[in-house]
Amino acid sequence: MSGIIAIVGRPNVGKSTLFNRLVEEKQAIIDAKSGVTRDRNYGEGVWNGREFTVIDTGGVTIKSDDAFEDAICKQVVMAMNEADVIIFMVDVKTGITDLDSNVADMLRRANKPFFLVVNKVDDGKYLYDATEFYSLGLGDYFTISSANGSGTGDLLDAVIAKLPPEKPKDDSKNVEEIPHVAVVGRPNVGKSSFINALIGEEQHIVTPVAGTTRDSIGTRFNKFGYDYYFIDTAGLRKKEKVNEDLEFYSVLRSIRSLESADVCVLMIDANDGIESQDMNILHLIIKNNKGVVICVNKWDLIEKTTNTARDFEENLRKKIAPFSDVPIIFTSVLEKQRIQKILEKIHEVYENRKRRVQTARLNEIMLEAIDRFSPPAIKGKNIKIKYVTQLPTPYPAFAFFASNAKYVKDSYKRYLENQLRKNFNFNGTTVRIYVRDK
Ligand code: GDP
Ligand code: GDP
Repeated sequence: MSGIIAIVGRPNVGKSTLFNRLVEEKQAIIDAKSGVTRDRNYGEGVWNGREFTVIDTGGVTIKSDDAFEDAICKQVVMAMNEADVIIFMVDVKTGITDLDSNVADMLRRANKPFFLVVNKVDDGKYLYDATEFYSLGLGDYFTISSANGSGTGDLLDAVIAKLPPEKPKDDSKNVEEIPHVAVVGRPNVGKSSFINALIGEEQHIVTPVAGTTRDSIGTRFNKFGYDYYFIDTAGLRKKEKVNEDLEFYSVLRSIRSLESADVCVLMIDANDGIESQDMNILHLIIKNNKGVVICVNKWDLIEKTTNTARDFEENLRKKIAPFSDVPIIFTSVLEKQRIQKILEKIHEVYENRKRRVQTARLNEIMLEAIDRFSPPAIKGKNIKIKYVTQLPTPYPAFAFFASNAKYVKDSYKRYLENQLRKNFNFNGTTVRIYVRDK
């Protein structure tokens, strides 16, 4: 459950404008990934590493025989049922209308966190006008401009704080909760052979779990002390030869299966080294913040001298830099070499991706690293990082709170990331760094 935010209010107050702003960045990624048009009433957003879903009730179609007020009320009721948090939007330019008062009454009676948001405060001169909305009796409000984005950051901070915790943990180990693994790579690198080597004849195809996003048909592998769910193995086991020959098909399929994965095994062919399609898949993995284990397969076919593996590995790490803190294993699926090692690394990366660092220890180590090498002052602005906290994301993400945060350069963020990697084990997983004003 990512947490659902609903935006309610009269038409023309600016709901879709805010909606578009909230889903903008994430939507671009999703659209690029699936290549399909999305239902614009419903979108994914991310703020400070926290993912959420936004519903724009204004876009929800309504039966035409409903009276206008009824229709709006129905939207509010729907929002109260479906959402975790409600944004109630009003318009500073028109002031309070009867409809606004009705919605306010409904919200006041409902047992659901909500925020009164006064929109179209494009400029400080409207701040005074906004005070009229106190008379709705809903208490404090946020002033924003959906059009230019001002005030939306503070609003999101407050909204996110009211969302339920990201992944409610359950002790029973059903398939949803065991590590989800996607085996990805170009055609003919050995993905199917790997799955078949693991699962052999005693396959157990797991049926999709209704109502979840993890709906690709896969296989549960429970052996040698490991318990994994391999995604989309049906496709790997009965290969669609025609399509498989198309390079891009493997990328498309990777996109689909890596979406629900925790860890990806990226298989490449030792004869070819890492190619552009491999890099495309790797970038997708990184963009989606999944864990990764790189397998250089068909190692049996390589003529080896003392340093062959070392040189190959060095070269590979250079090519995938800066994301080079990743396990690389040389395998031969055909000769069943180092298959166990893959299973072991999947486990490690899964654990690294989940790793939570204690705040006290995190600050102790990182503030010392920052003391040793502080962010250089930029344009006369001193940057002082005051503290750091890990965000409640399924992958490692850290917020550093600083003065003049926006002047912190990417190169310095990379320094912070490297220090985190040096001190805590994040091998095989992305580490996101956010610097925020404090
Ligand atoms: P909805 O019907 O509530 O979804 O409203 P829209 O998002 O479609 O916006 C209605 C109109 O208000 C559009 O012409 C927007 O460009 C405009 N609008 C939305 N947000 C703002 C804002 O923050 N400031 C100003 N000045 N206009 C806005
Ligand atoms: P996929 O398209 O990635 O699923 O690749 P397959 O598993 O179908 O393998 C393609 C070909 O490579 C098959 O002929 C396999 O037998 C062969 N192959 C797979 N793994 C290895 C390996 O480790 N060494 C060698 N020599 N051949 C392999």
